[in-house]
Amino acid sequence: MRKITTMRTITIHTNSEDSKILIGESFSNLPKYLPAGKTIIITDDNIHKLYGNIFPPIPVISIGLGEKHKTLETLAYIFDKLVEYEADRATFIVAIGGGIVCDVAGFAASVYMRGLRFGFVSTTLLSQVDASVGGKNGVNFRGYKNMLGVFNQPEFVIIDTAMLHTLDKQEYRSGFAEIVKAAVIKNAALFNYLEENYSAALNKEIIVMEKLIHDSILIKSQVVEQDEKELGERKKLNFGHTFAHAIEHNTGMLHGEAVSIGMVLAADLSVKLGLLQKSESERLVQVLRNLELPVNLKIDYPALVAAMRKDKKREGDNLHMIFLNRIGNALIKKISFTQLEKIEL
Ligand code: NAD
Repeated sequence: MRKITTMRTITIHTNSEDSKILIGESFSNLPKYLPAGKTIIITDDNIHKLYGNIFPPIPVISIGLGEKHKTLETLAYIFDKLVEYEADRATFIVAIGGGIVCDVAGFAASVYMRGLRFGFVSTTLLSQVDASVGGKNGVNFRGYKNMLGVFNQPEFVIIDTAMLHTLDKQEYRSGFAEIVKAAVIKNAALFNYLEENYSAALNKEIIVMEKLIHDSILIKSQVVEQDEKELGERKKLNFGHTFAHAIEHNTGMLHGEAVSIGMVLAADLSVKLGLLQKSESERLVQVLRNLELPVNLKIDYPALVAAMRKDKKREGDNLHMIFLNRIGNALIKKISFTQLEKIEL
């Protein structure tokens, strides 16, 4: 992908902090955004190997790869290193990586010495369009996904699309799941655009990618400004995710792949409950297929529902689930596990 030439900024205004999302900014400009004084980088072993030679000359903490490292043990490792580097309350943390690095580093920065300032350089498509934006930081705990965490906005998020060049094909495709999610719950025009431009998107055509990244972030930022702490509207961003978290946990699939299947299941459920026309759910399946994302899995549905009982959004026997009533519009409804178990998907 050629580099974006003009940078566009979206500022998320919240009660706590403003967060500047710098779309098309170059990674090489990172030093411009760092305050005077001590800064420490948190990254993962892949990014360190690929980009370490162009990191600013400051201390680096590198964590292992994959969801299995999004844990309290990794946090303890980071805290040990922060102590070793004599990080104090004036230290700034910059995370350079995908969703896992940003989630873990944002959490570490938020609790170390009751909170350090932090920013992100977001390096995967999934984290550029979703994970690095909106201030949710956290880790998994004993198989419960994102069970420990905080809402805390990064001061800046640098989105350098040129860094997507080094991302492997499967990880790149996985990012499209969160773009489809943003479109299908909030913006029918963006969904239509995906239906028409999926091939250019897969080929990393810059104009198309620039629009998809920008519009997805805009959707998320508007929702976050309205409901930073996920008391209502923000729950809609979890469309497909209750199924996805259970799938991810049981299969080890990539987050975006699990979200893709989770969205298909949630759309099927919407049809079964009489909320959504079948033709609309078929459009969703087609877009995901076109983007080369998985749309079904040989699942043992009762086992999946059992795994969903581990979802942190569960309230006793009930779950708040997100359904569709048309492409571009989602709704939040309470459903009981007993009801879910009875539905044949
Ligand atoms: P990831 O962070 O594991 O990155 C995927 C892989 O790509 C890693 O191996 C990484 O080293 C490598 N990588 C990253 N950037 C690269 C680059 N430019 N070139 C080459 N390799 C690169 O995965 P992800 O998909 O970015 O994030 C998934 C995580 O994000 C999940 O844990 C999910 O729960 C979380 N998430 C969080 C939010 C949120 O709001 N906080 C939203 C969505 C997802």
